[in-house]
Amino acid sequence: MDETTQLIIEVFERLAERLERESDYLTQLDSEIGDADFGVNLTRGIQATLETIDEREFENPSELIETVGLTLIDQMAGSSGILFGRALMEGSDAFENGIRLESVAEFAIRAADTVESQGNTTVGSKTMFDAIYPIVHVVQRAAKLNDLSEAEASAQAAQAARYGANFTIPIRAKKGRSSYTEWRSVGHPDPGAVAIAIAMDELHHFIQEQTTEERSPYLPGEIQI
Ligand code: ADP
Ligand code: MG
Repeated sequence: MDETTQLIIEVFERLAERLERESDYLTQLDSEIGDADFGVNLTRGIQATLETIDEREFENPSELIETVGLTLIDQMAGSSGILFGRALMEGSDAFENGIRLESVAEFAIRAADTVESQGNTTVGSKTMFDAIYPIVHVVQRAAKLNDLSEAEASAQAAQAARYGANFTIPIRAKKGRSSYTEWRSVGHPDPGAVAIAIAMDELHHFIQEQTTEERSPYLPGEIQI
C-alpha cells in the first residue's frame, strides 16, 4: 500500500474514534429536531468502514475512499449515510497525486458539490452543508494563495466549520427530516453540521501532530468544543 493510502487510512481511523465518542451527543441533537438516530447511524457506518479497511488491501487512495463511500451508502442508513457516501465517492479521485493543499481543495469542492446537489440543499437550509461550505472557502483560498502552513490552514478550516455549525442554531430547517419541525428547529444546531465541525476539529489535531506545529483553531477566550 502506498504512503498516501496509508495516511488516509490513519485519518479515517482517527475520525472514526472521535465521532464514535461523540455519537450519543449527536443522537441527542438529532432527537431535538429529527428522529434520534444520527449517532446510531454514524456508529453503524463507522463500524462497517473499519471492518472494510481491516479486511481489504487498497491499491491507491482513490480505491480506498471510493470503497469507504460505497460502504457508507450500503450500511449506514439515514440521509446522512447516502450523502457522506456519495460525497466520498465523488471526491475519491482527488488524491491521485498525493496529499497537497490543491488535492485537499479539490476533494472538498467535489464533496461539497455532491452534498449540495444530492441533498438539493444550499447554505442556510440548516444541514451539514452549512459546515462544509465554509471549509471549502478556507482550503480553496489557502491552495490558491499558498500562504499558510498545513496546520494554519486546518486550524482555519476547523474554526470555519464550527462557525458554520453555530450558524445553523438560529435558523429554520428547510431540508431533511428536521424541516418537518418547522419553527421548532430554531434554537437547535443541525446534528450533521456539528458532526462535520467535530470531524474537522479532529482532522486539525491530526495534521498538527503530523507537522508538530501548534496552531489553535480557537480565538482567545472562545468556548471550546
Ligand atoms: P435522517 O434525517 O434520515 O434520520 P440522519 O439522522 O442520519 O438522517 O442524518 C441527519 C443529518 O443529515 C442532518 O442533521 C443533516 O445535516 C443531514 N441531512 C439531511 N437531509 C439533508 C439534505 N437534504 N441535504 C443535506 N444534508 C441533509
Ligand atoms: Mg435522523
